[in-house]
Amino acid sequence: MPVSRRSLLSGLAALAALPACGLDRAYAAALAGAVALPPPVRLWLRREGTGEEVSAIVRTPDGDYARDLLMLSWLLRDVRDASAAVWIDPRLFDLLAAVQGAMSAVHGAVVPLIVTSGYRTPRHNAGLEGAARDSLHLAGRAVDLKAAGYAPDALAVAGALCGRGGVGIYASFCHLDIGQARAWAGGRRAPPAGQPAPGTPITKPKEPA
Ligand SMILES: [Zn+2]
Repeated sequence: MPVSRRSLLSGLAALAALPACGLDRAYAAALAGAVALPPPVRLWLRREGTGEEVSAIVRTPDGDYARDLLMLSWLLRDVRDASAAVWIDPRLFDLLAAVQGAMSAVHGAVVPLIVTSGYRTPRHNAGLEGAARDSLHLAGRAVDLKAAGYAPDALAVAGALCGRGGVGIYASFCHLDIGQARAWAGGRRAPPAGQPAPGTPITKPKEPA
């Protein structure tokens, strides 16, 4: 356990300087140890559609993955295909916790991340228009998410800063994964036939003759 011995000793020294108050010494020592510990890494997720929420510890203060990963993995199950669930790669939770931590530090309060798609069964993935056949969603190594009040671009920036994998920006969500580093914008609909693409420069229309 990476509790600094010096922190623990200085905590105990601070306690010794307090006037005698009848505090149990063992309890005081436990408190001093807890104060010296780094906080656990937490992650707060919501699931779009089902409304479920999980706020769980990803890593304990000593750096190990927590048992709560089972709850987080279940939240990322395939709700579109019989709730099939797999063990999610814990590094994806590290990434999401880092994204949430960075956004929350800027925002001043914890920003819940809303999962729109987590694990996908091969059957579900095959039926999705535009989904890659070897999508990392199939391996429990990718997630699509959004956050209330934030554009997908904002999540993408946080994802790119916190991770080294794939970042995809779509119209209503952001894809993050822990695969190869790459970035793309997807899901932009092609303009209707005969119409120029949005963003094409135009000039003032002529008055009708
Ligand atoms: Zn995705």
